[in-house]
Amino acid sequence: MSAPVRVAIVGGGIAGVGLALGLKDHAHLDVKLFESARAFGEIGAGVSFGANAVRAITGLGMGEPYAALADHTPDPWRDIWFEWRHSDDARLLGTSRAPGVGQSSVHRADFLDALATRLPMGMTQFNKRATRIEHGADSARVHFADGTDHEADIVIASDGIKSNLRDDVLRGLGQAPVAPRFTGTCAYRGMIESDRLRRAFEAAGVDTHLIDVPQMILGLDAHILSFPVKQGRLINVVAFVSDRSDANPQWPTGQSWVREASRREMLEAFAHWGVAARTLLKCIDTPTHWALHELAQLHGYVHGRLALIGDAAHAMLPHQGAGAGQGLEDAYFFAQLLADPAIARERLPELLAAYDAVRRPRACRVQQTSWEAGELYELRDPRVGDEDALLGHTLETRFDWIWNHDLDAEVATARARIDASTKVEADRTV
Ligand SMILES: Cc1cc2nc3c(=O)[nH]c(=O)nc-3n(C[C@H](O)[C@H](O)[C@H](O)COP(=O)(O)OP(=O)(O)OC[C@H]3O[C@@H](n4cnc5c(N)ncnc54)[C@H](O)[C@@H]3O)c2cc1C
Repeated sequence: MSAPVRVAIVGGGIAGVGLALGLKDHAHLDVKLFESARAFGEIGAGVSFGANAVRAITGLGMGEPYAALADHTPDPWRDIWFEWRHSDDARLLGTSRAPGVGQSSVHRADFLDALATRLPMGMTQFNKRATRIEHGADSARVHFADGTDHEADIVIASDGIKSNLRDDVLRGLGQAPVAPRFTGTCAYRGMIESDRLRRAFEAAGVDTHLIDVPQMILGLDAHILSFPVKQGRLINVVAFVSDRSDANPQWPTGQSWVREASRREMLEAFAHWGVAARTLLKCIDTPTHWALHELAQLHGYVHGRLALIGDAAHAMLPHQGAGAGQGLEDAYFFAQLLADPAIARERLPELLAAYDAVRRPRACRVQQTSWEAGELYELRDPRVGDEDALLGHTLETRFDWIWNHDLDAEVATARARIDASTKVEADRTV
């Protein structure tokens, strides 16, 4: 028996834990997950997944815990992803439908907890902050802030938007480092007890349909989304405000990206909005304020035996609800291909090259269209502007290409690339 292939995953967010779960049952792999925090942790907000992400979740073996926790749009609106409404009077602009999936979402902390309990004992090490990587001929060594290190045959960095390992990849590719950049958009986030919101809507004369069905309310330089989580007991709300006055907005160095905010401050940002939006926001007692950052599209995700996945590779604006989904697609890709002992043992460089060639164009496109979606929602799309009918029509089908993506076709393409490079090599040695 040859020694197992050593896989090191750095960062235990949704992407890293998802990958670890997808790899945990293979005897030919020795998987270790390194997390910088003392424990797994996610925030108490909702995260929604498109059909593509739900397929990745299922393929990674997380379908059962996901189904147990997930909220979906109730019947008879089950297929609805979002209804799009105008900020003035909440008039309906259009409806995006995702047949069979609708709006599928979970409470982040509950989901990560459920996943983490399924990881085998001993796979995860906490308090391990990766600081740098050292490349060997057929391996890589991760160094941690506590002075320890770990050698692996492949290192997968899922350490988020502030990744410590990303610059190593870029340096290796002869590229300049890429730091997260402030997008000019900030978001107020909060959760509301749905019973409370129902009473508030009834008192204000707002249709309570807007509680049960996911909503996006659109206005100039701002938009608000809401959808139910925790089996409909809570409503997750995110209210975005964008300042487009500066083409190159800067977030003050050293200032936290997240802070507590007052309800008054949040309401001031939506002072001229209609009764539905304002009633919704008035029910958030203690909003948090998030400065949204993203990454530029990278020119490569791989160097030596190191690959970037998730937000470490392609952090994006959250406007398509697709960021975590892209990380899960990355995880699914690696889980499928590393499951093949022949690839894991002998073709790691080809696998890494295939990952970069196959996954990066899609993730970059999702990044780009996430930004464009924000322009559209906030009535700044140069073609659509604030034309109700065109806006509604454009939004109805805009997301289908993300959701309908064939993950197994990606894996098959990668396999074909790996096989082709294997054949070239064999021909060369004949
Ligand atoms: C307001 C908002 C709403 C969003 N809504 C959605 C949505 O509805 N749907 C969706 O798909 N996406 C959404 N996203 C995007 C989504 O949150 C991210 O894409 C996703 O959480 C990224 O997961 P990740 O595992 O790649 O990174 P992270 O969640 O950032 O995890 C990184 C992990 O690595 C650890 N770590 C960091 N540095 C180190 C280190 N040096 N060494 C070891 N460990 C380290 C961290 O502690 C953390 O556990 C949203 C984002 C925002 C801001």
